[in-house]
Amino acid sequence: MRKDYSQCAKCAGKVCYPFAGVDDELPPVDEAPEFCPMRRMPEVIEKANHFYEKANIHEFARLASIQESECYELTGQGIKTKIPRLEETIQFANKCHFKRLGVVFCVGLREEARQVVSIFENKGFEVVSVNCKVGRTPKEFIGLKGEEKIAGPGLMEPMCNPIVQAAIINAENVDLAIMLGLCVGHDTLFMKYCDVPATTLAVKDRVTGHNPLAALYLSKSPYYNRLQMPAQAEADKGDWKKVDITADE
Ligand code: SF4
Repeated sequence: MRKDYSQCAKCAGKVCYPFAGVDDELPPVDEAPEFCPMRRMPEVIEKANHFYEKANIHEFARLASIQESECYELTGQGIKTKIPRLEETIQFANKCHFKRLGVVFCVGLREEARQVVSIFENKGFEVVSVNCKVGRTPKEFIGLKGEEKIAGPGLMEPMCNPIVQAAIINAENVDLAIMLGLCVGHDTLFMKYCDVPATTLAVKDRVTGHNPLAALYLSKSPYYNRLQMPAQAEADKGDWKKVDITADE
């Protein structure tokens, strides 16, 4: 097992998330695996925790964790969940006294966007909404060839434009941006260029009703078991080159 990078997904998490009373002694960090970030990077953890000293970040984090708690209830049968993410988003936005929400959606979820906006409006929010095709910039603008477009060369296909979505959300002075069904990569660009706080209501999954984990749950079945087949990542990269959107080119 490699020890030179953090691999929490391969650990039972008994050191960072022990079952302990508030006054109990916690398990020593050296009981965690050698790849544990608490062992490998204590200074990174300490430095990051200083960000919570800013009053607004402290308060935002506090409200987020209160909201988290309120999504459960302690019952005689144990802890139960009770609030779907849509309602959680509404409750959290109210806790933060947000008034103006910005829904950025994929054109494929236009009907869902209409319903989501209607629900937010019924709950008293002002809702800006921005479609991914905003600006109707043709895909040729980012270098796509005709045969690389979804419907082939004959039709004008506007590109999904997450950078323009972010620019409009920034200009509309929304308190909270809410991503609804943006594609992989388009969501990355939106997050890179969005200057306001953002959260995700749903992600795009064209096959599973926008529930990517359905493929995970089905990956042990014959239909999706290709997901469990070992593959050489390098071979799968084909002729594509590494792209670094954090570089200042
Ligand atoms: S932080 Fe450490 S103890 Fe917790 S899951 Fe990650 S590796 Fe395991």
